Amino acid sequence: MTKSTFAEIGGVLRAHQRFAVLSHVRPDGDALGSQLALALSLQKLGKDVTVWNEDGLLQKYNFLPGGERLTQPPREPQDFDAAVALDTATQNRLGTAGESVRSAKTWINIDHHPSNPGYGDLVYIDPTSPATGQILFELIQTEQLPMDRAIAENLFVAISTDTGSFQYPNTTARTFEIGAELLRCGVDVGRVSQLLYENYPRRRTELLRELLGTMRFEAGGKIASFSLSLKVAADLKVKPEDNEGLIDHLRAIHGVIVAIFFEELTDGKVRVSMRSKSEEVDVSAICQKFGGGGHKLAAGTRVRGTLAEVEQKILKAICDVIDCNS
Ligand code: 5GP
Ligand code: MN
Repeated sequence: MTKSTFAEIGGVLRAHQRFAVLSHVRPDGDALGSQLALALSLQKLGKDVTVWNEDGLLQKYNFLPGGERLTQPPREPQDFDAAVALDTATQNRLGTAGESVRSAKTWINIDHHPSNPGYGDLVYIDPTSPATGQILFELIQTEQLPMDRAIAENLFVAISTDTGSFQYPNTTARTFEIGAELLRCGVDVGRVSQLLYENYPRRRTELLRELLGTMRFEAGGKIASFSLSLKVAADLKVKPEDNEGLIDHLRAIHGVIVAIFFEELTDGKVRVSMRSKSEEVDVSAICQKFGGGGHKLAAGTRVRGTLAEVEQKILKAICDVIDCNS
């Protein structure tokens, strides 16, 4: 995989004028926070910046500074000097946002997914970084790109959400140093954390109640899973973003090593979300067998079939890796 330096990426960011800043479908806090942080920094440099995500700005991230700049891509493709893909393990996970870039002289790929194949002209992938937002902080600081409170708040959201509030094992000493630096830039940690973690719509907890009703344990309690059918999703009027983080209730259980969330989709596929609590169980490798990917301890994929079929296939694949008979 080619690895570009921050100096090379910084040079291209300064040299070009028209930018598209993109990230993956079904965005999370790292995707949206990273997009807006880079967009605001480029804007301060005097650049023309377009920020697209297939799903637009999710309602729960409405508070992100500069959020109004992030839109769904238009149907008519546009031309850019440079397009930046952030936090996006494969180019096709850009979805319609990628398709709306008709041309870009330079594609820049900045990510922390180990499964990222390194598409693009300038590639910076650091799988040891817990969040793409952390890589962007280093880029901004090293290249002395513009930083302010609004940019810092977006980076804080990116890092906080991808580290489970600085808790997951991917959190490093450097992550805390960067967190401190972002607070010095003016981030109000209490306010931002409340907006992130204590501001959910009631239907999200109603969804959790339904999901817990489907909770199952396998392999003597080492595997926990729950499932969301289209019918329940429709009854509760849930939005796709409502289920972000609910899988953590399974991961939090004593003895559970692998947590799985199955979500029936409208296209005949099932979205599978997986978490591992053991370095020895690499859920990204399991998801890659089904065309997905992610990180060792947090990964996902989409598998064609009914809920029951996909549940069975995935459980079988996990039992190839951990002993399900004990
Ligand atoms: P989540 O379970 O929160 O949707 O995703 C966990 C991790 O797995 C994220 O880092 C995400 O990028 C990755 N991931 C989720 N779904 C897919 C998928 O369908 N394909 C790939 N390549 N990665 C995925
Ligand atoms: Mn990420």
